[in-house]
Amino acid sequence: MDIPRIFTITESEHRIHNPYTSEKLATLGAALRLKPGTRVLDLGCGSGEMLCTWARDYGITGLGVDMSLLFCGQARLRAKELGVTGQVEFVHADAAGYVAAEKVDLAACVGATWIGGGVAGTVELLTHSLCPGGIVLIGEPYWLRMPPTENVAQGCGATAVADFLTLPKLIESFGDLGYDVVEMVLANQDGWDRYEAAKWLTMRRWLEANPDDDFAKEVRDQLTNEPKRYATYTREYLGWGVFALMAR
Ligand code: SAH
Repeated sequence: MDIPRIFTITESEHRIHNPYTSEKLATLGAALRLKPGTRVLDLGCGSGEMLCTWARDYGITGLGVDMSLLFCGQARLRAKELGVTGQVEFVHADAAGYVAAEKVDLAACVGATWIGGGVAGTVELLTHSLCPGGIVLIGEPYWLRMPPTENVAQGCGATAVADFLTLPKLIESFGDLGYDVVEMVLANQDGWDRYEAAKWLTMRRWLEANPDDDFAKEVRDQLTNEPKRYATYTREYLGWGVFALMAR
């Protein structure tokens, strides 16, 4: 069980697998007014940067679940590096349907809402692990500008314009699910550049080290085309943010 290999090639050097920077992660932690001992569940935790840095900076305890063996391994290494192995745990598993054995104060899915079949399903899934009065954290893209055509949406990596909402509509949709949006920290283009452009050097180095790999052609095509695609579409049309929700 693992995620498609292309991601573990292109994102092997990423600590944060979304358009957030370490500064944004720290801002989000401060915005949530995390207290020592706050219990956090993170579905699709990637390389564990959120849980590990929040454990170090705010004294939280965390459980991360991710389907990538590589990212889970990196998360455990990061916990060691930051001296928080006693506070965080990482489980290599499919997070679809995952419910924590012990309820948490903060249940997150940051940039992986397909795990619950979309935003609504993921909010629902997370609530099964949440103690009463807890906070749900959702990281999700939104349209900065509506793509004028379906082709533009696909250029952004979406399957269709309907995949995402505008920011006001996304916020409205959380209300429709019965939640107050109690905080949000939005990414910006610099963060998008860190997420997307960091893949290019990783791909280039990987190609030099693995010229005969079965994936070399796919990685070469991506390296050739991604910078222009990203600058034309994603960087101009797609926003991204993390939203903190509390049930009304
Ligand atoms: N939240 C992390 C990672 C976001 S990228 C961060 O912000 O850095 C999406 C993550 O979801 C990847 O780490 C990928 O391995 C993981 N993932 C994809 N499908 C999954 C599934 N079904 N169950 C658990 N994790 C999954």
